[in-house]
Amino acid sequence: MAWFTRDRPGKDAPENSEERHVRTEGLWLKCDSCGQIVWKKALDENLQVCPKCGFHFRVDARTRLETLFDEGKFEEFDVHLTSTDPLEFVDSKTYKDRLALMKEATSLSDAVISAAGTLNGRRVHICALELKFIGGSMGSVVGEKITRAIERSLHGRVPLIVISASGGARMQEGAISLMQLAKISSALMRLDEAKIPFISVMTDPTTGGVTASFAMLGDLNIAEPGALIGFAGPRVIEQTIRQKLPEGFQRSEFLLQHGFLDAVVNRAELKNYLAASFDFFLA
Ligand SMILES: [Zn+2]
Repeated sequence: MAWFTRDRPGKDAPENSEERHVRTEGLWLKCDSCGQIVWKKALDENLQVCPKCGFHFRVDARTRLETLFDEGKFEEFDVHLTSTDPLEFVDSKTYKDRLALMKEATSLSDAVISAAGTLNGRRVHICALELKFIGGSMGSVVGEKITRAIERSLHGRVPLIVISASGGARMQEGAISLMQLAKISSALMRLDEAKIPFISVMTDPTTGGVTASFAMLGDLNIAEPGALIGFAGPRVIEQTIRQKLPEGFQRSEFLLQHGFLDAVVNRAELKNYLAASFDFFLA
């Protein structure tokens, strides 16, 4: 606590310890990987990558788009597309209430931002999934927004990037969520036939129906270091095959070693990596 009291001497030091705790929490945090205390500002300046060990913290969809597009500027599409709750689903709360809460918390209409702008001077479309919106899950809106982005890429002959952060299909929309896998996959096939490049970027975590569809269908499938990527979770697999899974199973590095990924790319290098890949594809 010494650094805190030195920074803020005397008069505006908070009275109770709870408030003091909250304020310091905003300035410093503990790295999930190396356990060291990291200055939040240093983390902000380092694209949310631990300056001490290189651990990649999760970032929200908007921040991600701002760091990839030139000058952080982009145009958004289908901003107000929202789910109609086709199954009138109820779990611990109604799906309608859950959607309303999520919209309020994230200022998004669903779990993806569809955007266009330039990346190192080249026009690209980027869809970024938002994990904070019902676990980045894919229902009808995510499916439709990504499909429309693919169609826009197709008509404008513009390369596409999808940045995944998702728990998979959205159970509150049942079979309609599952239908999105087929819809997006068939749209991607048309993009492939037109020879327009699509790069899939997987971040922590990318699982379930997202892995089982577009996340693994890129001309390049790349991932951030240490990301959890898989279809079913390790516990389910262990119970099914009755074997202990190897160390690092379902992490980016393991998947690269076993041929599931084309590259593991550090966040700081991602923008240039994407630009160089498009230069290569479109040469
Ligand atoms: Zn660290």
